[in-house]
Amino acid sequence: MTTAVVVGSGPNGLAAALTLAAAGVEVEVLEAADEIGGGTRSGHYTVDGVLHDECSGFHPLAVDTAFSRAFDLAAEGLAWRWPEVQYAHPLDGGSGAAVWRDVDRTAQALGESGAAYRRLFGPLSDRFDKIATEFLQPIVHVPRHPIALAGFGVASLLPATWLGRMLRSPESAALFAGVAAHAFRPLGSPLSSAIGVALGTAAHRYGWPVAEGGTAAISRAMEQLLAEHGGKVTTGVRVTGRDQLAHADIVMLDTTPGAAADILGDALPPRVARAYRRYRYGPGAFQVALAVEGGIPWTHEPTRAAGTVHLGGSMAQIATAEREVWRGRMPERPFVLLGQQSQADPGRRAGDVHPIDAYAHVPSGYDGDATEAILAQIERFAPGVRERVVGMSVRSTEQITRDNANYVGGDIVTGANTPRQLIFRPRVALDPYATGVPGTWLCSAATPPGAGAHGMCGHLAARRALRRAGIAGTIGP
Ligand SMILES: Cc1cc2nc3c(=O)[nH]c(=O)nc-3n(C[C@H](O)[C@H](O)[C@H](O)COP(=O)(O)OP(=O)(O)OC[C@H]3O[C@@H](n4cnc5c(N)ncnc54)[C@H](O)[C@@H]3O)c2cc1C
Repeated sequence: MTTAVVVGSGPNGLAAALTLAAAGVEVEVLEAADEIGGGTRSGHYTVDGVLHDECSGFHPLAVDTAFSRAFDLAAEGLAWRWPEVQYAHPLDGGSGAAVWRDVDRTAQALGESGAAYRRLFGPLSDRFDKIATEFLQPIVHVPRHPIALAGFGVASLLPATWLGRMLRSPESAALFAGVAAHAFRPLGSPLSSAIGVALGTAAHRYGWPVAEGGTAAISRAMEQLLAEHGGKVTTGVRVTGRDQLAHADIVMLDTTPGAAADILGDALPPRVARAYRRYRYGPGAFQVALAVEGGIPWTHEPTRAAGTVHLGGSMAQIATAEREVWRGRMPERPFVLLGQQSQADPGRRAGDVHPIDAYAHVPSGYDGDATEAILAQIERFAPGVRERVVGMSVRSTEQITRDNANYVGGDIVTGANTPRQLIFRPRVALDPYATGVPGTWLCSAATPPGAGAHGMCGHLAARRALRRAGIAGTIGP
């Protein structure tokens, strides 16, 4: 029987493990932490009974993928829950903008600039199933849906600030800047629209759902299904060298390229080792989890019903903050992403105490304390919030890296989204998953299609591994 070891139990490691196990491979997953899941863990970090997501909270790109269609995680207890408002962007003075599943409702709320919003996101969301099939795989491939991809591609090439201005109002521009900032890139740089266009369109096609009972439900469901296929996960084992993997026919590395180079050592072809060592990491995150009595009193009404909230003010203010962070300087008013998961999943509250999961974009490896800057950004749009906070816990960039070696310097998306790394990650190669060591594959978010708890990097890497091993019955399209 063919055997495999998967290093790391993030969503990509578990997706790779499942894909191999379902094809009849005997699989063991080795995880450094005491708990499975990587970026898909949940826990009670502030107040008893208040459930937080440690990392990922919202899953627009996990709802409908080749992986989700191949494996029935719903049967293992995974249920998506949607907030009424997918994401919102409060502005000074009580105004703001918000995104509902329905494009027309969103456009209507944007007033006169709504027509420009509808022109961009309406046609894209109608074709999004085809577009998603194309970009949830290595960008360098022969497209099956070239026409659907063309419109998406044109919008994605633009700097986010250009596309924001084309949306014709300060509210619409700020709304787009907020979603584009998920890329951790200066908003004036080429291709900086790509992730914003994808996530913004996904909000209309799939919504931005949370996993009922916490994001950990995703990894739990994968682990259960893996066990049904005979696979097992061992926690508390950090892999540091090839000797720990020597018994396996197939090795999948849910690690950074740098860690892969350390583990594989001399076996790695020198040109691959050089490319892995040159792989660039992006800015960091500084996290604050809050327990808030009665929820956050946002002045902008639709923001109260939103799952995700983008805090940073106008497009110009967000662009300045993101540019500073990219240059390694901590801005006074950083861009903050804030999750109100319990708007979609009220069971995470304890009585009327709401879990809030926020993080600021900070320079890579930032060693200061961004707690006050995050609280100030919340207070700016929700005066009085501090009096409602009954519990808090913070994670610095250093702690984030200590908890998960894949987040170098607090880089929670495992690699800078530079144009080069958006197109060729982790290196320029026809097969981005191949390490050059026979039977050994990289499958983390450092490979296509990149960050997110969708498992597609692991699934696609495992399918290549199966094909190369000549194992028939490969799962999925
Ligand atoms: C604060 C935060 C918020 C986020 N928000 C979202 C969101 O809302 N939506 C979304 O889709 N994504 C979000 N993400 C990103 C998402 O969580 C990651 O992109 C995703 O988890 C990547 O999956 P992965 O399997 O590649 O790696 P990870 O989930 O990072 O898992 C890697 C695993 O490998 C283990 N490992 C590493 N090296 C070794 C070794 N040598 N030996 C053994 N084990 C090892 C690690 O301990 C870890 O468990 C967020 C991340 C963070 C941190």
